[in-house]
Amino acid sequence: VEEARSSASRAYELDRKHVFHSWVAQGAFKPMVVTAAQGSHVWDGNGDRLLDFSSQLVNTNIGHQHPRVVAGIVEQAQRLATIAPHHVNDQRSEAARLIAERTPGDLDKVFFTNSGAEAVEHAIRMARVHTGRNKILSRYRSYHGATALAINVTGDPRRWANDRGTEGTTHFFGPFLYRSAFHATTEAEEEQRALQHLQQVIELEGPGTIAAIILETIPGGPGIIPPPPGYLRGVRELCDLHGIVMIADEVMCGFGRSGHWFAIDESGVAPDLLAFAKGVNSGYVPLGGVAISARVAETFEERPYPGGLTYSGHPLACAAAVATITAMADEGIVENARRIGETVLGPGLAEIAARHPCVGEARGRGVFWALELVTDATTREPLAPYAGTSAAMAEMMAECKRQGLLPLMVSNRIHCAPPCTITADEAREGLRILDEVLKIGDSYTV
Ligand code: PLP
Repeated sequence: VEEARSSASRAYELDRKHVFHSWVAQGAFKPMVVTAAQGSHVWDGNGDRLLDFSSQLVNTNIGHQHPRVVAGIVEQAQRLATIAPHHVNDQRSEAARLIAERTPGDLDKVFFTNSGAEAVEHAIRMARVHTGRNKILSRYRSYHGATALAINVTGDPRRWANDRGTEGTTHFFGPFLYRSAFHATTEAEEEQRALQHLQQVIELEGPGTIAAIILETIPGGPGIIPPPPGYLRGVRELCDLHGIVMIADEVMCGFGRSGHWFAIDESGVAPDLLAFAKGVNSGYVPLGGVAISARVAETFEERPYPGGLTYSGHPLACAAAVATITAMADEGIVENARRIGETVLGPGLAEIAARHPCVGEARGRGVFWALELVTDATTREPLAPYAGTSAAMAEMMAECKRQGLLPLMVSNRIHCAPPCTITADEAREGLRILDEVLKIGDSYTV
């Protein structure tokens, strides 16, 4: 134990001295050491076990250290660790087949990237070449990645410091009944008004100038906001009417997270392009990509695609995807995510919301849930500002960890996104801890 602690403390010191971290001011940052992970749990530098309700950055859909995925990577490393993207590789071919079989509609070709942001960049590039148009519409309350264009289409505070406003991107409001931009009081009203608003934005921006509408099927980072039932069909119809490419960003909500292979399955709608990453191989090796419809793919039959990556379809990443998707199918992991959502997390979080005055709303699907925390249930004043955190949120995060739970805290929300493999008992244990910890939040309500 002493040896493990001293190795963790050396890792921490070296990290603080040499590692430059994402999104934070480096000076005051105090990251947690993780020394091991297994299934739904991680172990910190003190040797304490935490139930992983974050799936890290909502990517370990298959849980930690799944033996079939680890074996798939090891076998591939021994056989052929890397190969250029212009050569055929069996794991890449097989990963593309497994993905194409699961994506909706005629999304039958896959362009592989190394990350979600690159998937978004390439989906937009394809849409622009395909339509010959430049403008991209995207939503407020969205996150699409941190590269130059992906952060410009993003609609959350992470864009602010990066926005150059020169990329031809325009934002619109999506449906979000709890904080309705349309003064709606029912979901049906919210859906209808959000579609009317989008129609107006399209008309005022000039339909013939718009290459694509990109939207997260279920906005994740910005609050896990499932759309009303007919919204995505309405977006599809507007896209069809105006020759606009519909891009579904399923980087976070795809590959089982929502209790379906893809969150868009619930709507019965097929996008023209679908961006994925994270859950495709649970991030064991970085991988993302774009699933491409026949219509968009046709554009590039004669005309070269103006883009590429040295590691597109990397064999280690693709071997991990093959093992992940196969294991998820064999072991009923998507069905498990759905069952846990319907029988444990959904009802459990609804009870918690009813019991705690600081919980304004619980919403989600599958293993993808958010608690929206407020200081006042009537005014819906958030427990932390839109672009920041608060003492209440920080105290609750510390208490969660102390009690052995690792959720994600984003602004005034607690995001509960455990692996799709979580058991009912583990999920109940997470709920029990949340129920305790939310008493802190209650003490901040008016
Ligand atoms: N799109 C969505 C919906 C995401 O949630 C994320 C990351 O959280 C991205 C894109 C960017 O993915 P990456 O961080 O792999 O570039």
